[in-house]
Amino acid sequence: MAETTRLELGLVRTDALMDEVLMEILDHLGIVYREAGEGDFPLLISSTKPREASFSKSLLVAEDVLPMDEVLNTLSGSSSVEDRDCFDLRINELEDRLLAHLRNLYLAEGLPLVRKWYWPNFSKACVVLTHDVDWLSYSPFHKVVYRHNSFPKFLKLVFKHLFLREDYGYNIPEIIEIEKSRGFKSTFFLKTNYDDLEKARRVQESLKEKGFEIGLHAARDSHEVLDMLKGELTSLQEATGSEIYGVRYHRLKFKPGLTWRLEEEAGLKYDSTFSNNKYFGFKSQLCHPYRPIDLRLKRRLNILEIPMAFMDWASLHRHYAYNDCQSVMLRLMDTVNKYHGCFAVNFHNTYLNRESFQQVYELFLWCLNEARVRGFWVTNGFDCYNWWSMRASVKLKLELDRNIISGESSLRKFPLIIEMAEVKEALPFIADSVFKINMDV
Ligand SMILES: [Zn+2]
Repeated sequence: MAETTRLELGLVRTDALMDEVLMEILDHLGIVYREAGEGDFPLLISSTKPREASFSKSLLVAEDVLPMDEVLNTLSGSSSVEDRDCFDLRINELEDRLLAHLRNLYLAEGLPLVRKWYWPNFSKACVVLTHDVDWLSYSPFHKVVYRHNSFPKFLKLVFKHLFLREDYGYNIPEIIEIEKSRGFKSTFFLKTNYDDLEKARRVQESLKEKGFEIGLHAARDSHEVLDMLKGELTSLQEATGSEIYGVRYHRLKFKPGLTWRLEEEAGLKYDSTFSNNKYFGFKSQLCHPYRPIDLRLKRRLNILEIPMAFMDWASLHRHYAYNDCQSVMLRLMDTVNKYHGCFAVNFHNTYLNRESFQQVYELFLWCLNEARVRGFWVTNGFDCYNWWSMRASVKLKLELDRNIISGESSLRKFPLIIEMAEVKEALPFIADSVFKINMDV
């Protein structure tokens, strides 16, 4: 009889809160793990040192490899970058450190390390397209229009606005067309109230009809008052006649330690608020979607934070030239490419106008193109949420029999990568519900 070895990582529970941190890290990395207890595991992991040290198998203690407190502080929102652009991803680096240890331990045992790939169809990274809709029309008399156009150009905009009734702020039908023609469908975060109710109704209808996502652009004090959030949610759900899954608060109002919990209680699925108004990059120094940890409940919340790393308003506020914006975007894309991460971009409908904000408009077109050229998955908030939570919950069984990995997957066509000693590049593999991988090939 041939002897088979199971390949999943065994998780030993030691500390309820830190175990949540560890599971979140393992989920980001796509590590296949199960609770240890029954059966044999080639390798065990725990968040902190177990009290009784009676493990015969090799046990990796995560806190020996990385400062778990630091990750906890980040995932709970207690510690974040507030006052600068952030492209140095400390948390991703720490997670990669753990991954390197795990990989070494597996390979040293002569075992392959099989992981879930990050995105569908082996996409390298993900860009989530979003639009905050603050107004449905926009006159050129806003200061920001004056500041970002030459005086003759400004006069022309004013003339067209006053005499030809040109509206520079609506732009939604054109955005829909631009994205649709490229096969993308973004998220529009809508408020519950606009001056022009008829226009608001038309926007909702057309987004629904074209299959775009409508999220809530929450206002007032919804970020700290549950009833207010629930009220806004119900109101938008009733107005659109569809389920609302995601939220971004107007002006990025947010209270770490509270807002995420309220969102869970209100039944939302994801948030994309936790970022800085005036800065680019990753406030949590982490470029994966993540489930925040609630320190009071001592667990991960059933909310996914999708990090917003670029907002057009920040570039206008900082008087960035087109080239400056482009280099910010390139840096973001290089960063998510490196960690196979994800970031949301926020282009307001009021700025996506070829005439009044030419450079924002062109940056948007360039960004869509660049993301596609790089093989990124360009999607909306809900599809990103769906994929990321499905990926974490997919059940995989993996066994090694001599040189054949046999496995079962609860999801069909699921992308895996296999890392082996003596093979430099990880091998991609699409797992079916039952599969076999011959490692000799
Ligand atoms: Zn807003």
